[in-house]
Formats: sequence, C-alpha cells, structure tokens
Amino acid sequence: MSSPLFQSPKGTRDILPDEHLYFSFIKKVVRHRCRQAGYRRISTPVFEQLEVFQRGLGDTTDVVEKEMFVFESKSGKKLALRPENTAGVVRAYVEHGMQQLPKPVELYYIEPFFRYSRPQAGRYRQFHQFGFEVLGEGDAAIDAQVIYLAYKINQDLGVADRLNLQINTIGSTEDRVKFKEDLLNYYTGKERSLCEDCKRRKDKNPLRLLDCKEEDCRILASLAPKFSDVMGAESKEHFARLLEYLDELKVPYQKNPYLVRGLDYYSHTVFEFWSKKDGAQNATGGGGRYDGLVELMGGAPTPAVGYAAGMERLIDYMKEADIKPPNKDQVHVFVAQLGLVAKKKSLPLLSQLRERGINTVGAVGKDSIKAQMTLADRMKAEYALILGEVEVREGTIILRNMAKGSQQTIPYEDIVEKMVKLLGENKLESKKMWEE
Ligand code: AMP
Repeated sequence: MSSPLFQSPKGTRDILPDEHLYFSFIKKVVRHRCRQAGYRRISTPVFEQLEVFQRGLGDTTDVVEKEMFVFESKSGKKLALRPENTAGVVRAYVEHGMQQLPKPVELYYIEPFFRYSRPQAGRYRQFHQFGFEVLGEGDAAIDAQVIYLAYKINQDLGVADRLNLQINTIGSTEDRVKFKEDLLNYYTGKERSLCEDCKRRKDKNPLRLLDCKEEDCRILASLAPKFSDVMGAESKEHFARLLEYLDELKVPYQKNPYLVRGLDYYSHTVFEFWSKKDGAQNATGGGGRYDGLVELMGGAPTPAVGYAAGMERLIDYMKEADIKPPNKDQVHVFVAQLGLVAKKKSLPLLSQLRERGINTVGAVGKDSIKAQMTLADRMKAEYALILGEVEVREGTIILRNMAKGSQQTIPYEDIVEKMVKLLGENKLESKKMWEE
C-alpha cells in the first residue's frame, strides 16, 4: 500500500471502532460507579488561560515547564491546551460559586488532555483521562473513599491485580516549608551530582528532587532527610487514619516515602497506581489532597482531594489481561431485498426492528441476494431477513440463521415479534433506554 497523503499528527491516535469498545466500556463503568457515590459530571473547556495552569500546577513542574501546548489568541492572550483537569475544575468551582453547594461537592469528568511530551509507548500528545474531585471536606475518610472508588473501577475493568497502590503523605504546607529547608541544606554542596533539571529545581522546589528518575539523583534521594522527621502531629494523624480506613475497606497498598507526585498543588495524601511489572513508568493514575489550591485560584480556603486515570494505559492493561469489553455494535439483523417493491417494503421493516432495540442494517443496492448474504456475513450479522418479489406477493419473509446456515419462511406480520424473541428481549436496547 502506498503511504497516505496525510497522517494524524505525531503523538496522536485515531480511535477506531474496535478501540472505542474499550473507551465506551470504561466510560460506562466510571459513570456507574461515580453516580453510585453521588458524583455529578463536569466538563470544562479544552483550553484555559495559561495562568490557570501556571498557578494551579506550579511553574516548576515538568508539565508546565516543558509539556504544554501554549498559543496566543488573536488579541494576544496566552492560552494553553489543558494538560490535566484539576486546575480547570477548581477554576470553574470558584467562578460558579460552587462553594455555596452542599458539601462535599463531588465532581467527575471523562475528557481528552494534551501534553507536548516525547511520544513513546503509553505516552501520547492527546490522551484521555477520567477523574474525580471532592471539594469542601478535609477528613481522611474522604481520601479513603476517593482511593476506594479508583480501586473499585480498576477491579471492574479487570486490572486491579496488575496494579500496586503506592501511597504517601507530603504533610501540610508548614511541614513542607520546614522539610524544604532541610532538603536545601542537604543538597547544597552536592549540586555536581544532580541532573540538569534537578540543579535548576533545587532552590525553587527541592521536594521534586526526591521524585527524579535519574540514577545519581535517586541515590542522593535515598540518603536525604526523611519527611517523617519533621512532620507535624496533625499530618501524621491524617495519614494514620487514612491507612486505617483503607485497611477497613480492604484496599491493599504500599507505603512509599519517595512518592511526591509531579504537580505542586498536593498536600497530605498522595497516591498512584503503579504497574506490578514496570513500576512508576507505567502508572495508570494517581491523585491526592490539594487543600491549598482553591485559595490559590482565588476562592475561599477549601480542602479537596482528587484522582485522575489515563484511559489509554488502562486499555493496555485490559488487553494484557485479555479483558474483552462487551460489543454493543454487534449487527443483529441484516435485511436483504431484491426488486423495487421489496426495497420499499424493507424500509419500514428496518425502522420497526430498530425501534425494538434490534441493531439492523439494510442493503440498498441492486446486488444479488448472494452478494448481499456475503455482506451480511462480513458484517457478522446474527440473522438475515430476505425479502424478494415472491415473498412480498405471498406476504412472507425468509429468516436465515447466519451461523447455522439454516432458513425458514414465516408470515411477514410475525417477523418483528419473532426477532425480538429470538434475540432475547433483555439484551436489546430499546429506543427508550436513555430515559431509564
Ligand atoms: P498524571 O496527572 O501525570 O499523574 O497523569 C495521570 C495518568 O494519566 C497517568 O498515570 C497516565 O495513566 C495518564 N497520562 C498522563 N500523561 C499521559 C500521556 N502523555 N499519554 C498517555 N497517558 C498519560
């Protein structure tokens, strides 16, 4: 095949119908689990003022420093495609006065995101996340419930066994000020052993040095002062409670004192689901508490906690685990016809079958019945209905079971009920299903 004239931009992918089965399945699970827990859906624009992310994510983070698609509007405003959702959701929360709503405010989303990173396996420039945010409550029981919801969704998708929940606390803002001083003292004089990124980040945000993946930085990090040495009693209590709640909920976890997460806005709880095989490299999602962010974005001080998961990564694990999402695109019935009278008659039949929730495809061309049966076969239709001039004259229709190759002639007026019965009423999605 010659190469196509155009290809999708580097780092982006078309989601073809077979892949969409996975996306639809994940969306269904997420919607179901979130609704059960009282969450309501939110969507924000795919781009925001650049400052929303600079302020919300911290301007020393990799995402903000290197990975954003930034552009200028015609009037010269700096805008950016969203690399994640928490900053945008918090912007919307403040803008729409959601602090007036009964607390906690529980929101969820399923959206595309954009990061200008080097494309590689499991890392794209446009990818999809679902996630949730709970605003207005600081109790560790909320952190536990957010983690439980994430864990439950992993279970529903069939990937929970492949993942390890890593969990840590990064304390309160005051704890971190103290800890940063200790780290700064420790790293001062050791700059030569740090990677270029860490050298640069050392003064502004030394905490990030603990999370660097470079070999030399990791060795230094392993000998650095421990957060637990400076952590205040309240922070310790929050973390201890959270672990008790997770035990109660029977969610397995691993404490990981080096986990700090890439974004600046976290406080207290941070967590990530890592691959049991490749560790952090292929994390499916993560989150944590961000008690300072709402205030940073111009709202009243509001405790909050959230989680986001990468859908492409989850799909990779689902495929690895041989999880097959249900195929709702299955063609149930193919209606074949020959001759103008039969063609006319087939049109209302197609619509009657569809109204009853039967996925129905009809041939409209002038092909022979044999050619139409080949098409029905290629579309993997379960049944074919054949309507020729003879059948129209006699008030009948031919019903063919495609897998068995057997067929029978039945009265035309019985066909819709017959198909509903054959396909099983319960598995059909009637036109009213969206009202339920
Ligand atoms: P983060 O907010 O960076 O922790 O991202 C949360 C999750 O989103 C990650 O664990 C990944 O599953 C997914 N993710 C982040 N960046 C990308 C990307 N560039 N391509 C695909 N998935 C991503």
